Amino acid sequence: MKKKREVLKRVEGEGIEFIRLQFIDVFGVLKSVNVTTDELEDALDGNLMFDGSSIDGLARINESDQCLVPDLDTLQIMPWRPKDRGVARMICDVYSPDGTPFVGCSRYILKRTLKEAEEMGLELNMGPEGEFFLFHTDEKGNPTFNIHDKAGYFDLAPMDNGEDARRDIVLTMKEMGFSIEASHHEVAPGQHEIDFKYDEALRTADKWVTFRDVVKNIASNHKLYATFMPKPFAGENGSAMHCNQSLFKNGVNTFYDKNGECQLSETALYYVGGLLKHAKGMTALVNPIVNSYKRLKPGYEAPIHIAWSNSNRSTLIRIPCRRGKATRVEYRSPDPVANPYLTFAVMLKAGLDGIKNKIAPPPSVEEDVYNLTAKQRAALDLEYLPRDLYSALKEMEKDPLIKETIGSHCYSKFLEAKYKEWHQYSEQVHQWELKNYLRKY
Ligand code: GLU
Ligand code: MG
Ligand code: MG
Repeated sequence: MKKKREVLKRVEGEGIEFIRLQFIDVFGVLKSVNVTTDELEDALDGNLMFDGSSIDGLARINESDQCLVPDLDTLQIMPWRPKDRGVARMICDVYSPDGTPFVGCSRYILKRTLKEAEEMGLELNMGPEGEFFLFHTDEKGNPTFNIHDKAGYFDLAPMDNGEDARRDIVLTMKEMGFSIEASHHEVAPGQHEIDFKYDEALRTADKWVTFRDVVKNIASNHKLYATFMPKPFAGENGSAMHCNQSLFKNGVNTFYDKNGECQLSETALYYVGGLLKHAKGMTALVNPIVNSYKRLKPGYEAPIHIAWSNSNRSTLIRIPCRRGKATRVEYRSPDPVANPYLTFAVMLKAGLDGIKNKIAPPPSVEEDVYNLTAKQRAALDLEYLPRDLYSALKEMEKDPLIKETIGSHCYSKFLEAKYKEWHQYSEQVHQWELKNYLRKY
């Protein structure tokens, strides 16, 4: 009650007129409905109904009535909207009309998994790294395939609208309560990265959703188009959402042990063991589109093998060198189009499986795994991540932990839509085939 009053007071005090009630669908796409201050109190009580069957992967037509319940801790003003009669956003949970959390709500799925960790006294902290590309737009505002610069890693791009847009994105995020750790030009032309400080996993997932929204809106104000598509160009790096994660117990990082191997605790090693065990099964969720698999190729700092290492950027898991409170496991395969709630949930579930069942990881691999001979690879017993969406879906079906994490509703919606996506794609005749086969045969 107190929190609700605080929200209403803040909305009035700050002259907010519109509140965007937001949630994401199973496929990670942001959805939003506006209410004005007149209806806000009703909406805060969870009385806002919508047609769930019209949202991809949410509900069936015969159980289509759903309610949005705003999280009272998530009110944030959207600084790029007008100051006068301003706009704020709130992140919502989806509920069924009988007052129970809707089984297809990905935020609920993450909450449920976090609860399992909580019962073991553990809290998941997550720090994602956000990579994206900026393209020019045409006179109608549509994206073109012209990249806005030719700069590379840590370059000071020419003072073009790309650099200005990144600056503006960072300032907007700060106004919305993000604490920014770093922002820079990434390796590929037109590619940028913004890293915000880790937070409790649910808050981080909410922030990730907002981060993508801010990037797209601010880029558009600079007449640029931002894409989180994992691999826009063949022959250049793609975009990742590296997930830096650690488990805290009573405010202490359980991954750090100053006397442990590499100063890592047993808990950290078992967590890594769990992630590796379920890496194949998790892939479809963390790399959910056909294009995701164009990124997971050798030579572009993206993982291809299921292995872990201390600082090697060619493996799936890396342990960044910071220790003490900052000790963390960096899981490197997820890309920025993944649903963050489901991604965090499934990684946590895999890590907890490792801890509960004491799954020791194989020895770390410190070699550059892109350049191994077949013999070296066999000696290291390295397995590949699934190499396309179809194989990833097959692996997902083989690993019971995935269905257990996301529940049968999301599981079947996801598989059905993704097999369809794969089949549509595989029926197409690509440019590469025309170039290589048309004249030859
Ligand atoms: N962009 C690279 C990827 O696709 C990651 C680069 C980095 O290590 O930051 O995974
Ligand atoms: Mg990066
Ligand atoms: Mg990283």
